[in-house]
Amino acid sequence: MRILLTNDDGIHAQGLWALHAALAPGHEVTVVAPDRERTGVGHAITLHQPLRAASLAVNGAEGYAVNGTPADCVKLAVLEILDGRPDLVVSGLNPGANVGVNINYSGTVAAAREAALGGIPAIAASIEGHAPRDFAPPASFVRRLADRIAAHGLLPGTFLNVNFPDVPWKEVRGVRVSRQGLSVFKEYMEKRLDPRNRPYYWQGADMQRFREDDPEIDGSVLRGRCVSITPIRCDMTDYDGLGRLKEWNLELNGSEGGT
Ligand code: MN
Repeated sequence: MRILLTNDDGIHAQGLWALHAALAPGHEVTVVAPDRERTGVGHAITLHQPLRAASLAVNGAEGYAVNGTPADCVKLAVLEILDGRPDLVVSGLNPGANVGVNINYSGTVAAAREAALGGIPAIAASIEGHAPRDFAPPASFVRRLADRIAAHGLLPGTFLNVNFPDVPWKEVRGVRVSRQGLSVFKEYMEKRLDPRNRPYYWQGADMQRFREDDPEIDGSVLRGRCVSITPIRCDMTDYDGLGRLKEWNLELNGSEGGT
């Protein structure tokens, strides 16, 4: 397969090169990743400054460091850097679980979504915790997942969001297909004062206080020490809400003004 590998942690991140080591044998892997950490930028794209891709060698492999976001990297790779469309886009391995509401903020997930929007199968892969103990076994699992995608395909406009628990690999209990959870973490703004007595804020969230009872959601699967795989679709339409909204019978009635 021709695989585009990217992330939101920057081209030097350990998780990206663990994936490269797992995917490169037998596949044609091209790395196009942000030139610095872009965690939490979501699906942002760069419109007000030029994009540049610097070719560089990392760990004996070639890569392109882009001064843009993860979504920029996928666009630039597909439209310019690669010789044609890749068969698969893999984004990760991101330290920090991308479950529940995090999916909305994640640059890792956005890179996979960007691929899926263009009809390219994609995987976003993350590990719980900020300093995961071992990237190699999860990377190896992602390679097997990539092989399954090659065999079964994915529906257009969808991608897989996979999360690994941060426990020794031997303690991982299994693999569960899950749904995205929606519970919001306990969020806070930590207010401090600068030397001129002006307030500034650090925002954060207490992940430990996040609980949802449903065993099928992504966060619960991780707490159960299993690998979580959620199929995600790009279409954000609320199909249940379509009928209800039509019943509002919204029409123009001449009160809007205009000519
Ligand atoms: Mn990240």
